[in-house]
Parts: sequence; C-alpha cells; structure tokens
Amino acid sequence: MAVTASVPHRLPEAPREARRSAGEISRPMRLSVLGATGSIGTSTLDLVSRTPERFEIVALTAQSNAKELAALAIRHGAKLAVIGDESRFDELRDALAKTGIRAAAGAGALTEAALEPADCVMAAIVGAAGLRPTFAAASQGGRVALANKECLVSAGHVFTAAIARSGAELLPVDSEHSAAFQVLSGADPQAIDKIVLTASGGPFRSWTRDAIAAATPEQALKHPNWSMGAKITIDSASLMNKGLELIEAFHLFPVSVEKLDCIVHPQSIVHCLVSYVDGSVLAQMAPPDMRTPIAVALAWPDRMGAPTEKLDLARLATLTFEAPDEERFPALRVARAAMRRGDTAPAVLNAANEVAVKAFLDRRIKFLDIAALVEETLEAAERQGAICAATNLDDILSVDELARILSNEKLSGY
Ligand code: NAD
Ligand code: MG
Repeated sequence: MAVTASVPHRLPEAPREARRSAGEISRPMRLSVLGATGSIGTSTLDLVSRTPERFEIVALTAQSNAKELAALAIRHGAKLAVIGDESRFDELRDALAKTGIRAAAGAGALTEAALEPADCVMAAIVGAAGLRPTFAAASQGGRVALANKECLVSAGHVFTAAIARSGAELLPVDSEHSAAFQVLSGADPQAIDKIVLTASGGPFRSWTRDAIAAATPEQALKHPNWSMGAKITIDSASLMNKGLELIEAFHLFPVSVEKLDCIVHPQSIVHCLVSYVDGSVLAQMAPPDMRTPIAVALAWPDRMGAPTEKLDLARLATLTFEAPDEERFPALRVARAAMRRGDTAPAVLNAANEVAVKAFLDRRIKFLDIAALVEETLEAAERQGAICAATNLDDILSVDELARILSNEKLSGY
C-alpha cells in the first residue's frame, strides 16, 4: 500500500492551562536518557546540569564507554546505569562501587532501563539499535523525547500506534521536526499547504559530482554547521538524513507525502517552513545548536533556558535557499522513493543505509556507493517480497535483519 493518505496529528496538543492545573510541573521531572554518552545525550545532560532542581535522573545508558557512563551517572545522581556491551559490565560495576547506583548490562537491560518509571525518556540511541528500548519507553505512557528518528523511519505506523495505545506524549527532538511542531501548534490540517524541512547541504553542497564520488570519510565527517555523531554526519553529507527526516515528518504531522518537501539552506538558521493555503509561510529560526530543540522537548508546554548563542540576524545579514540536487545527492531521491513506496520500504532503506555508512567509514566503498547500495538493496527486497505491511515491531526487526543480509551480500560486489 502506498502511503498517500493523510494521517491524524499524533503530537500532543494539551492546553497549557490544563497541564498547569494538573500540577505536573511542580516536582522535578524524572528523566531517563538512552544514549547518554552521545551527542544528543550529552547535550541533554548539559541542559540538566544548568537547572538540576528541575530534574531527577532515573536511568542513563550507553553502548561501550563504561567510564564515561559511570562518570555521568555519578555527576547526575542517576539511580541506574546500563551499558549495552556486556563485556564492559565489570568496568561499569567497579566504577560505580559504593555509589549506590545500580549497574546492568546487555540489550535486555537497555530495554529495562527504558521501562523504569519516568516522566520523560530521551530516546537518543543511534540507529535501529534504538528501536526496542524506544518502544519500551513508549509503552510506559510518559513523555518520549524522540531523537532516534530510526524509530519513525523504520517502524512509523507501528510506533505511532504504540504511542496511541499507551497514551504517551511524543515530542520530536530532531531540529526540523521540533521547528514544525512549534510552528504547527494547533493548526487545522486542511489549512496546511506544505511542510518544508531545511537541509544545510552538508560539506559537499557546492562540490561537483566527481569530487563527491572521491570524497573521503574525513571530508564527509566535517559538517559545516552542526556537531553530531558520526552516522548522522555522514547522512547529512549525502542528504540521506533529509530523506529520513521526510519520512519522520510523514509519521509526525497530519499531511500526505506530496505536502512534504525540503530545501537547502546553508546557514541552518531556519529549520522548517510551513506554508498555509492563504499564502502565509511560518518558520522557526534558531542558531544551529541541538540544545534548543532538546529544551523544547523537555520543557513543553513551557520553555526553559538554553545557553545557546543568541540569534543576530543583522550580523548574519544573509539567509540563502536553494533547491536540492538529486543528481549529485542521489540518496535523497532513493529515500523519497522509499517514502512513496511505503510499507517496509523505509525500514529496508534505513538498515541498508546503516550498513552502507559503516562500509564507507571503513573505506570499503566510495561515497556515492552509499546511495547505490541502498537502492540495490531496496530492489532486492522488493523482488523477495520483503516490502510489505508490518503490524508489529518483530515484523520490522525481521525486515531490518533481512535488509542487512542483502546489503552485506551486495557489498562483496563493490
Ligand atoms: P551518537 O553516535 O553521538 O550517540 C549515540 C548514543 O547511542 C551513544 O550514547 C552510544 O553509546 C549509544 N549507542 C550506540 N550504539 C548503540 C547500540 N547498538 N545499542 C545501544 N546504544 C547504542 O549519536 P547522536 O548524534 O547523539 O544521535 C542519536 C540519535 O539522535 C540518532 O538517531 C540521530 O539520528 C538523532 N539525531 C541526532 C542529532 C544530533 O545533532 N546529533 C540531531 C537530530 C537527530
Ligand atoms: Mg535534523
């Protein structure tokens, strides 16, 4: 089934007064951070450390850096610290000895950390590895501050259904989606003409196709505006990230795929533009610092301070926009096609892209091979009948696994 129908607005819309009278902000927010040692995780904890009285840290998780995880858990007074890689458990346990902080390890423990009672879970694990823990967070019924876009890309319908079932609040952390969330607040879906996400264009924005084809991992890892983890930085350079974000937006906002678009905006000041049927265009602006959208997700419906640079438009003087070039950035074309195809195509896209990005960073393939490998994997999955409707997370994870097998097989031909 192609995903062309409008979907209901799934983001929370409770009025401010109702929340205030419920007294929800009178005690500290119990917060867990999945992926605490990463770029989003440390930015979240940076905000927490500036107003510690607002938060009570429940669980922190990381994959392999036990030393840093233990230090964060001690600094923020967490109750639980979980390391994904079981071989690092002894290191974590020893570092937390006599602190009273519980230590655990392994994939199951990551999911249990997400199930610890909390008012908000920051879901900031990178990649499809974040799916199970983020689904667990969603099942709790509290707030899910969603940085792990893969959850919506790979498992969009299944994830939004899980959110609806539990009554959880889903708040986007991705800057463009946070921008759209702020701009759309209360909008009548019928009045929306277009939601346009901006893309910085990445380090290769003005490069020729031949130069892009020869790009090295070091060049691709130099993002002009944002400081982020390695995976998303490569996705930003290929524009795959914008393709993933269009799919993410489709599941978050009440519009059909035809009403979603993107535009290159090298300064990364405007994060999203929403045009309405009457010709009005509303946009959100902020300096490129993830602490702004993280603060929005933590404090909504209120606002909290974030120590970001203040926007100085007179100093910036010029904001520019240009159309994305799918000839030089084929990953965007491939992602858009997967979005239109719907069903499990985005899950295959995401898994194949994770394999391809790793292969590029390991210098096994060239930069433009990333999009080619993903497209070939999508075609192979379609031939095998693996692009189909999914009804639960296990279906999605099976398709994810198959896509990884297919793309790894294809990798050997490169
Ligand atoms: P990162 O690589 O900096 O950090 C990832 C975190 O996840 C780390 O704490 C790491 O220990 C943990 N992790 C890695 N592999 C894991 C695994 N297999 N199991 C469990 N934990 C694992 O990534 P990031 O840049 O912070 O991105 C996190 C998520 O947020 C991604 O989904 C990304 O797309 C999204 N996001 C990031 C930014 C940004 O500015 N960094 C912006 C928008 C969205
Ligand atoms: Mg983004």
